Amino acid sequence: MSRLVVVSNRVAPIKEGKVAAGGLAVGVYDALRQAGGIWFGWNGEVNAHPQVRSETVGNITYVTLALTKLDYDQYYRGFSNATLWPIFHYRIDLARYSREEYEGYRRVNAMLAEQLKPLLKPDDIVWIHDYHLIPFAEACRMQGIRNRIGFFLHIPFPAPEILTAIPPHNDLLKTLCYYDLIGFQTETDKLAFQDYITREVRGVIERDGSLTAYGQNFRAGVYPIGVVPDEIRHVAESYKMRRQLVGRNRAGDLRKTIISVDRLDYSKGLVERFHAYEQFLDRFPEHRRNVEFIQIAPTSRSDVKTYQAIRHQLESEAGHINGRLADLDWTPLHYLNKSHDRRVLMGLFHRAEVGFVTPLRDGMNLVAKEYVAAQDPDNPGVLVLSRFAGAASELTSALIVNPYDCVGMAEALDRALRMPLAERKDRYEHMMRAIRRCDLDAWRDNFLRDLKAFSSRPKMVK
Ligand code: UDP
Repeated sequence: MSRLVVVSNRVAPIKEGKVAAGGLAVGVYDALRQAGGIWFGWNGEVNAHPQVRSETVGNITYVTLALTKLDYDQYYRGFSNATLWPIFHYRIDLARYSREEYEGYRRVNAMLAEQLKPLLKPDDIVWIHDYHLIPFAEACRMQGIRNRIGFFLHIPFPAPEILTAIPPHNDLLKTLCYYDLIGFQTETDKLAFQDYITREVRGVIERDGSLTAYGQNFRAGVYPIGVVPDEIRHVAESYKMRRQLVGRNRAGDLRKTIISVDRLDYSKGLVERFHAYEQFLDRFPEHRRNVEFIQIAPTSRSDVKTYQAIRHQLESEAGHINGRLADLDWTPLHYLNKSHDRRVLMGLFHRAEVGFVTPLRDGMNLVAKEYVAAQDPDNPGVLVLSRFAGAASELTSALIVNPYDCVGMAEALDRALRMPLAERKDRYEHMMRAIRRCDLDAWRDNFLRDLKAFSSRPKMVK
């Protein structure tokens, strides 16, 4: 049986029995455990003399290395997170570009491919993850690696008008064509990619659906990442009593809870969401004191400047809302910057009446799926979901909102809190069918099946 070799920017060995990791980690971990293989990438350390370290647990070998400070600054903090991330999330206004950082990004990809080469066997299947590693396949081909190599993009793929704001977009996209299979979260992402390939570089879509561009033939497909619904349900049930979620109002009734969980990132629409919540309390004052909004937003990438700015803005908005509306016995908004164990989150989701998920742009958004999967089927809560989350193309029975429309979001919160049980159940069941259809196993199995099935000409670097 051929082994699976997974390459992702960060590698954190998973200890058996721990389920705290997110979608990518859990999804590929299962595949690696079944077929045996290697997980290769950065160990999160910055070190002047990076050394490759290898640790085998069961039939998985974790091969990791540190980055130098220069590599970290140019490849990770620079081109990946200050150029690609904002542009792929439609935020040209927040993006910066530096030629040195792009060169650093290419250099680190080449270095990683070189380090991977001696570990590979000829029939290994190689699966690369996410925007940090777009040029990885080309770097492998330059090393003479002929294995089948697939790529999955976890974040959105932007429309060509946005993508072309990256000065070396042509050079970058050319490297992507050295993969055998490129996977996207949604049809919209795949179409944007095809649009770029056909219009920008005069590539063609062949009769069999494959693409030819820059002299390479490859495939693109849609593989929405999912969750493990039964496991979430189970964890949610067993953690639902661990935290007293909310206080009681004056009448002694439990207050209703609106919950949001996001990394603290400008793509998540947090500022707009806070405004919407304030609008909601202003327009529908009958909900005051009867509802609490919990926003969990662990900080991320705090050494990138734009992330420091959004954090300050949110602190000021949260202070404004509570300062204006709170009372001695009621805090309308609980804003927590701490990261929480995923199991605790599932318990919180289970007990919250509304899941409020309103990114301005998001590849998928697993929290949306987790919120639904954690509900009690006999008394489910309501998901309010941004149309710009990848999850919205599957969870069409959520209350779909435009995250730029604060009044529209306020109205959706009111509607969610008033929704009759029969309608809540209908919507929940419809969403659960979609979640089961595209669960985590389906994501991984479909991608690997297609990667193995497609036989293209051997890729050569021209
Ligand atoms: N998460 C977590 N603890 C936290 C916040 C988030 O375990 O304090 C998990 C969350 O349950 C989800 C993942 O992190 O599985 C976030 O994935 P998502 O697709 O929603 O957003 P991303 O962070 O990948 O942009």
